[in-house]
Amino acid sequence: MKLAELRAQVVNYCRRLAQSDLSIGTTGNISAIDQEESLIAISPGAMDYGSMEAADVVLLNLQGEVVDGERRPSSEWAMHLGCYAQRADIGAIVHTHSPAATTLAVLGQELPAVHYMIALSGGGTIPLAPYHTYGTAALAQAAVAAMGAGHACLLQNHGVLAAGPDLAWAWSLAEQVEFCADIYLRASAVGEPEILSQSQIEEVIEQLDAYRAQH
Ligand code: 13P
Ligand code: ZN
Repeated sequence: MKLAELRAQVVNYCRRLAQSDLSIGTTGNISAIDQEESLIAISPGAMDYGSMEAADVVLLNLQGEVVDGERRPSSEWAMHLGCYAQRADIGAIVHTHSPAATTLAVLGQELPAVHYMIALSGGGTIPLAPYHTYGTAALAQAAVAAMGAGHACLLQNHGVLAAGPDLAWAWSLAEQVEFCADIYLRASAVGEPEILSQSQIEEVIEQLDAYRAQH
């Protein structure tokens, strides 16, 4: 994908983030990688996403150096870079502080397979990365390790990291993680939620693959 298109997509999803309930203020960040050019387009730090333009998107190389852009890259650039460095199948990343998922992360809990849409993450449980200060290499390492071969993890006392082959997928996963966490908290407040088995989740993963191939 052309870098100009990638920049436009990052702006588009940052604006969505600003309008959504997935993060408040300037929190959360978004990136996408151009595999051919080995460049990452990432949102700038502390940006009012409502007024963001393509020129505000920062381009980083795989060493984390700014290649283009006047602004500073997101403070979480190392977390984004760590995911791309580890996983060739990841093309885009969405980080949020969405409230229900963050509530679970504050409780020090992972998110179990309470709803079939969790399978979008590539597994049945959304793991929890231990707490580290935002923007640190330690947080980046913990997040990449927690994500494992999946596409999402919770960040303890912080938020959510969601990845995918493209921004549409990563965004959708960030939304679904929040939906599933909200459902889990509601169900837990009333009774004991039923948790889907690994084989039930695997069946959904297969079906989602077929569903995507048709659409
Ligand atoms: P940035 O504004 O630097 O992207 O940081 C927001 C955030 O969510 C830090 O974890
Ligand atoms: Zn954050």
